[in-house]
Amino acid sequence: MNQPVYNFGAGPAMLPPAVLEQVQAELLDWHGRGISVMEMSHRGADYMQIIAEAEQDLRDLMNIPENYKVLFLQGGATLQFAMVPINLLRGHHKASYVQTGIWSEKALNEARRFAEVEVSASNADRQARLVPPQSEWQVSKDTAYVHIAGNETIGGVEFDFVPELGDIPLVSDASSHILSRPVDVSRFGLIYAGAQKNIGPAGLTLVIVREDLLGQAPANTPTMLDYAVQAKEGSMHNTPPTFAIYMAGLVFKWLKKTGGLQAMAERNARKAELLYQSIDGSAGFYTNPIEPRNRSWMNVPFTLKNANLDKVFLQEAELQHLLQLKGHRLLGGMRASIYNAMPETGVQALVDFMRDFARKHN
Ligand SMILES: *Cc1c(COP(=O)(O)O)cnc(C)c1O
Repeated sequence: MNQPVYNFGAGPAMLPPAVLEQVQAELLDWHGRGISVMEMSHRGADYMQIIAEAEQDLRDLMNIPENYKVLFLQGGATLQFAMVPINLLRGHHKASYVQTGIWSEKALNEARRFAEVEVSASNADRQARLVPPQSEWQVSKDTAYVHIAGNETIGGVEFDFVPELGDIPLVSDASSHILSRPVDVSRFGLIYAGAQKNIGPAGLTLVIVREDLLGQAPANTPTMLDYAVQAKEGSMHNTPPTFAIYMAGLVFKWLKKTGGLQAMAERNARKAELLYQSIDGSAGFYTNPIEPRNRSWMNVPFTLKNANLDKVFLQEAELQHLLQLKGHRLLGGMRASIYNAMPETGVQALVDFMRDFARKHN
């Protein structure tokens, strides 16, 4: 039997094999219609059913309250760095950002084009090793919203709490940890996520937004960048990314079938614990610098004591069919992304490889 391939890439990331098999099986002929989903009118009855089911399955999975809209957009999480201030300033001048790593920094830099940005807290003085506790945050009363990156994909830092902000809307970039565990959506004003990490293929961006925050974008806002337009037209002001939405819908069904977000959280916790334990138990051969309470369940960066071994590590890993373990170009070292689609057997294979590699090269 062929040895399985495990893809630890940060994004676009691996998808559940069961979903890919289903896509393959119905690629040329969806449900007996004789055509592919890619070739369907987005306004036809079949496609309307596909997108409605995708939305409903997501609502079921995340328990999304009725006063929240679900939008299927394009432009990636990066376009949300602009759409959030454009739409959510609502006449305010100031917007607050918590800086926990590279993605929150990109978000706040983009927001500076539209708003007076207040950096309410930062971990930059602590090598980005933790999420600053809320007791440290400085949030002005006249701010429009507070933005966080719930999981920093590059640094591997994840929030271990949902900030309490009273009436100030909380906005989260959840690109790399959405659907990894249950979350109380009602605590957020807006949640957004690029699809290519934990949802589906690239090209789709998910936005979950509380209705009362919509409809206050400036008059000169480009039509496509106005959440209110997208909400009113069911994400179909123009042609949506039809195939990516269809695949995301299949991922949602797969999540429901495998027990929903509680079951997923239990698997993800076991996966993360196994990997962090193997790093911490390597007597310094491998290191992850993040405060334990803020260690990401999804993205695990680590370095080798001897960086000269990085190349060999990656080569030998690849021979074992353990792919895309190279760290982000800004940080170096390694990074194992272990999203929902990564099975526990994949993490076990990685841990076994790391133990053997350390023995051989110590
Ligand atoms: C990947 C990522 C982004 C960028 O996503 P794009 O869809 O490529 O724009 C932004 N934020 C976080 C947290 C990410 O992981």
